[in-house]
Amino acid sequence: MSFQPQEQVDLRPYNTLGISARARYFTSVRIQPQLQAAMRWALENDQPWLLLGGGSNLVLAGDVPGLVIRLEMTGKRVVHEDDEHVWVRVQAGENWHELVRWTLEQGWSGLENLSLIPGTAGAAPVQNIGAYGVELEDVLQQVLVLDALDFGLKHLSVEDCQFGYRDSLFKREPGRRVILSIDLRLRRQPQLQLEYGPVRAELERRGINEPTALDVSDAVIAIRQSKLPDPAVVSNAGSFFKNPVISADQAAELKRQYPEMVQYPLANGQVKLAAGWLIEQAGCKDKAVGDAAVHRQQALVLVNHGRASGKDVLTLAAQIRDDIACRYGVTLEIEPVVIGAGAG
Ligand SMILES: Cc1cc2nc3c(=O)[nH]c(=O)nc-3n(C[C@H](O)[C@H](O)[C@H](O)COP(=O)(O)OP(=O)(O)OC[C@H]3O[C@@H](n4cnc5c(N)ncnc54)[C@H](O)[C@@H]3O)c2cc1C
Repeated sequence: MSFQPQEQVDLRPYNTLGISARARYFTSVRIQPQLQAAMRWALENDQPWLLLGGGSNLVLAGDVPGLVIRLEMTGKRVVHEDDEHVWVRVQAGENWHELVRWTLEQGWSGLENLSLIPGTAGAAPVQNIGAYGVELEDVLQQVLVLDALDFGLKHLSVEDCQFGYRDSLFKREPGRRVILSIDLRLRRQPQLQLEYGPVRAELERRGINEPTALDVSDAVIAIRQSKLPDPAVVSNAGSFFKNPVISADQAAELKRQYPEMVQYPLANGQVKLAAGWLIEQAGCKDKAVGDAAVHRQQALVLVNHGRASGKDVLTLAAQIRDDIACRYGVTLEIEPVVIGAGAG
C-alpha cells in the first residue's frame, strides 16, 4: 500500500487543550493496512511516530517531529456471551462516551461510572481511565496490539497491561504498542458502584431510589457537567495532576497540621490526597501564565483561554508543583502525556 503523509499540519484542532503546534508529518488511518504502511514509512524514513486518538490527554510542548498517526478505526461487536456477561470488541478509534451510552442502551452495565470521559476506546487502556470508583481494568478483558518491534499482533491480558492508577505499560513505553481494539466484559445484571463521590447524592436529588445503570450514567454526566469545563467551550485536558499517593505517616502529619485536608486511605496502607484540594488551599487558583490558567470551579484543571502555548501551560504547572511541594512537601505529577520539541 502506497503511503503519502501530509506535511506541516497544525495540531490545534486535534488536541482539547487547543494548543497550536505543527506535526512535521501527519496521517489518519481507518484500516490496519494503512496503519502498517504509515509505520513502515516512518521506519524507512527514520522518523519517530506519535499515536493520536482524541487528543484529550496531551500537552503539546512544541512542534512534533516525525509522523503523527491519528487512529480512526471504528467498529464494535459482541464476540461472546453467556447468561451473566457480554463480551464486546471495540476498535481503537471509537468515541469512548458514545460507546458507554451504546452499551447501556443495549442493557449491559459496567461502563456507567466512566460516562463522559473524552477520547477514544484505544486510548482508554493507556492511562487506565477511571472515574467515580471504577477503572477500565475492572471491565477490560484483553487488548489487541500491533507491536512495532516485529509488526506482530498480540493479545495482552489485564495482567500484561501492568495497570496502575492512571498508568500502564503503554504509558511507560509510548509508541511501541498500537492498541487496535479492546475487549470489554459487561454485565447483564448491574453491580452498581455508587459509593464514590457525589453519585448517590445526585441520584437521591433526582428522586431515584433503585437506579439502573443508565440512571447512574445520567447522574455521572450531570455531576461532570456541573464540575468540569467542556473542552468544546473552554480548552482543557481534564485533570492536569494525578492525585498524589503518600505514606500513612506523612498523611498523619499533614492531617495534624491541616485537619480539614481531604484524604482517602488505600488498601495498601498508603493514602491518596486530592490534588485539587491542595492546589485550591495553596491559593493557586488565581495563577496564570499568558492564556494558560487554573480553572475557576475546578482547580485540578488547567485551561487555555485562547492562544496559550504548551510552554505557557507547563510553566504554570511547574509553578503550581513548586508551591505544593513547598507548602505540603508533596510532589504533584502531571497526568497528561507531554510531547513535542520542548518536552522533557
Ligand atoms: C474534560 C476532560 C475530562 C477528563 N476526565 C477524565 C477522567 O475522568 N478520567 C480519566 O482517566 N481521564 C480523563 N480525561 C483524560 C482523557 O480523556 C483520557 O485519558 C482519554 O482516555 C484520552 O483519550 P484520547 O483518545 O483523547 O487520547 P490522546 O490524548 O489522543 O492520547 C493519549 C495517549 O495515548 C496514546 N494513544 C492514543 N491512542 C492510542 C492507541 N490506540 N494505542 C496506543 N497508544 C495510544 C497517545 O500516544 C498518548 O500518549 C479527561 C480529559 C478531559 C479533556
